[in-house]
Amino acid sequence: MFAEMIHRIEMPMPGMLGTVNCYLVVNSGRAALIDTGMASERNVAIMEKQLARWGVKASRLEKVLCTHYHPDHCGLGKFFQESGTPVLLSRDDAEEMARWQESPLQDEQLATFYGEHELPVDFRKEVTPIFAYLRSLRQPFRPDVLPEGDGAIDIAGIPFVLLHTTGHTDGHVCFFQPDTRVLVAGDHILGHSLVNIVTKYQSRFNSPLAQYLLSLKKISALGTMTAITAHGDPVADVPARCEALAALHHSRIIEVKRTLSRTPQSAYELSCRAFGQKRRTFSKWLNMAQTISCIEYLEQCGEVDCHQMRNRKRYSSVG
Ligand SMILES: [Zn+2]
Repeated sequence: MFAEMIHRIEMPMPGMLGTVNCYLVVNSGRAALIDTGMASERNVAIMEKQLARWGVKASRLEKVLCTHYHPDHCGLGKFFQESGTPVLLSRDDAEEMARWQESPLQDEQLATFYGEHELPVDFRKEVTPIFAYLRSLRQPFRPDVLPEGDGAIDIAGIPFVLLHTTGHTDGHVCFFQPDTRVLVAGDHILGHSLVNIVTKYQSRFNSPLAQYLLSLKKISALGTMTAITAHGDPVADVPARCEALAALHHSRIIEVKRTLSRTPQSAYELSCRAFGQKRRTFSKWLNMAQTISCIEYLEQCGEVDCHQMRNRKRYSSVG
């Protein structure tokens, strides 16, 4: 019965992923949407056309729920708000989105952060405009805020459970439908790749990766279920996928640990030695971000020494 109530809307996005899956829940004349796609006039037209396929108008949606604040998930938030529909995000992500949108120093601060980790200057010049571009894919808006804890949430008259799943962002959330055992997973679990984990720079946790591993456990503890994900096809066996993702992250942590030596190295050096030199700017950036999240995890476990040297940070094995 659930299959008839939840419809996948694929929205285009640039880059390797190509599309983001949004989910329209329709039930007895009521409708709500989970995630929106990126902001553009073309995307507004695509979204309106897709909603019309199910007899829904943007202004008739009860609410729009966003799994997290990245532009492919809430880019059209302003459009829906202006159509009179409440758009909801978790408090953590609403705050991070405001910070990201409103601080004029964001790009420079982020470049400095990567500078500390000794990214080559050329790379820093390449990577900085990416952030301004990413911001342009979401029109600024002030979301309504989801409840803080986990608990029941009504989506178009269907009972769901709101689950906070920190990791990809601090305030990432999933929506679980217990009768049909379907999880709307956002970017918490993907079937085809590892999920990128936020670093301490954009998090209130010392190790967001440790939080992510806890969030995977929380989901797999709910038992057998199917996940409908924000990118790619559904994941049929969620606990098995959670276990596989945790194992992959642990193997990356071990790889970074093995690459540490008594001689302090920058996170950039460690990322190249542990995971290879990447050619594309975006891949280099992802590699760096993943290396930093592994270092943060090891730091929390007391398994790495951090050396602060003027504007630089370097890392060595303990002892
Ligand atoms: Zn995301």
